[in-house]
Formats: sequence, structure tokens, C-alpha cells
Amino acid sequence: MSRNVYKQIYKKIKKYQTIVIARHVGPDPDAVTSQIALRESIKCTFPKKNVYAVGASVHRFKKFGLLDKVAMETLKPCLLILTDVPNLDRVDDITDLHYQEVIKIDHHPCSEKVSDLELVDDTASSACQLVAELIYNTPLKMNVSIAENLFLGIVSDSDRFLLSYTTAKTFQLVSKLIDDYHLEFNHLYASLYERPINEIRFHGYLGENLEIQESGLAYIKIMPEIINKYNVDLATPSNMINDFNFIKEVLVWVFITYDEKNEIYKINIRSRGPVINLVAEQYHGGGHKFASGARVKTMEEVEALIKELDALCVQYKGN
Ligand code: AMP
Repeated sequence: MSRNVYKQIYKKIKKYQTIVIARHVGPDPDAVTSQIALRESIKCTFPKKNVYAVGASVHRFKKFGLLDKVAMETLKPCLLILTDVPNLDRVDDITDLHYQEVIKIDHHPCSEKVSDLELVDDTASSACQLVAELIYNTPLKMNVSIAENLFLGIVSDSDRFLLSYTTAKTFQLVSKLIDDYHLEFNHLYASLYERPINEIRFHGYLGENLEIQESGLAYIKIMPEIINKYNVDLATPSNMINDFNFIKEVLVWVFITYDEKNEIYKINIRSRGPVINLVAEQYHGGGHKFASGARVKTMEEVEALIKELDALCVQYKGN
């Protein structure tokens, strides 16, 4: 990344008195920790600025820091910074915001240019990796809690350094964070990985009932009665999908969760070979090459998606 981009982003941050930091809907730990770490860093550096991290709050992410409830329509003129989201229509909760300029900091494949000033690197492990790079390359300040959040976002989105976007740079940054801020990282893992026993039992159900095809495609349809039986929430399957990596018989795996209230099927797709995001994009979705999501309204569309992914696996094996 050219140093010039970091410099330009810093200049914009310096210029605005009010800054809003937003991320994608249905957030994961990297989305939340990246926005909170950046908010704290800007506040530490410029204590007089008004900096808000916005979006629906998720109870289990409260340990990373609280989000701001703010009347968006009153905030003008302001700078909007997007972390961990490639396009404007996936940004959570900015409909009433009148921003003057926007900056994007993201590691998704770039599906939409939203600004002339973008720190986008789809080879980065996480949005937190990019925020850490930004802070280390500018006069923006860091402290222990910012470093902890950045560490957690990187660990979570790289799936504990298992995924392919984990590079030497990821390890260098993590090592620097640990060194510079004396992070006692063993204590931090509980905030990502501690779960109640009903979730472990639900995990067992997923393993028991995953349908595995000859092609290497595996899928499971999770209906509301199962969600209720195990007393888990609709986001739980998303949090577990990475655990099903490295199954010998499986190349691509899909969780299909029916959201009764919104009458929509929420779909998580992962791969350890075939590129899946182009298929996901045809089903109101998108994401990374090997980690995507989609949303469809009918079971016919679910079946069509499964068929397409099955063919993709067959083709991949053939090659
Ligand atoms: P998930 O399976 O929800 O953890 O999402 C995996 C990746 O796909 C993340 O990078 C998401 O931002 C992205 N993603 C999930 N759902 C969608 C969607 N409906 N449209 C575009 N990208 C999505």
C-alpha cells in the first residue's frame, strides 16, 4: 500500500470535527473491532473531535466496546469512514446520515468504488490488519485496548491464522502489537471462543446432519424448530461455519438458515478450493473468494444455489 494513502486518510481525519465509522450489516468480530479500534485511536489522537462508531449492537460483541447511539440527521458536515464493507448498500444504519466525504478501509474484493480515497487490499487477512497498518503509518495513536481489539479482529477473521490471506505481514503486525503493548493474548481468547453448552450441542447436530455429496459439496438446512430446540440464535450457524474446514470429504460447505421473521434464507458458504463468491453474487450475496454469504427468499432458489455449487465442485475436481 502506498504511504500516500495513509497520509491522505490521516489528513482527512484531521480536517473533520465529526467522524462516523460504520461497517457491514450482520457484523462479525472484525467488523466491530475495526470500527471501535479506529474510533478509539482517533479519539486518543484528537480528544476534542466527535467520533461515533455506529450500527446495530450485538450483545455478545459488547466486550469489544460499546457502539454509539446518535441522531444521524443532526451530524453535519461529517466524514464517514467505512470499515470491512465493500459497498454502500451493505453498510449498517447510515440512511439518515448526510456525510460530506467518505473513506473506505476494507479487505473484500472491490465490488464498488465508493470513494476516491480507499485503503482496500483484498489480500489482507482482515479489516483490523488494515486499521493497524493505518495507525502504524500515521501519527494516529494506539493503546492497549486498541491493540487488543486489533489483535482479536485479525485472529477472528483469519480464523486463527488458518485462512489463506494470512501472510508474513499478518504475523509481523500481530507480533508488533503483542510486543509494543505487552498483550496477554491467552486471556483474550475467551471473548471470541467461549460458548454455552447448548451451542456445543447444536454444533454436534450440524456435524451429524450435514449432507455430503459425491462432488465434495456439503450442506445443511437449518429450520426454525432446530434453532428453537437448541435455544441458539440465527447468527449462531454463521459463527460456526469456519469450524467445518478441513473435512476430508468436503470442498465447499453451506449452511442455510431460515429466518422466519424476515422470511428469508440466510446462507453461509465456505470453500477450500473452488472460488465461490461469483456464485454467491448471483443470489443476492457476495464476499471473499473462499468465504461468502447470500440471501434468498424461496426454497427453489436455495435448491438452485446448491445445484450450482455442486456443479462448481464437480468442475473443480475435474480440473
Ligand atoms: P458470512 O457467511 O455471513 O460470515 O459472510 C462471509 C463473507 O461474505 C463476509 O465477508 C460477508 O461480508 C460477505 N457476505 C455475506 N452475506 C453477504 C451478502 N448478502 N452480500 C454480500 N456479501 C455478503
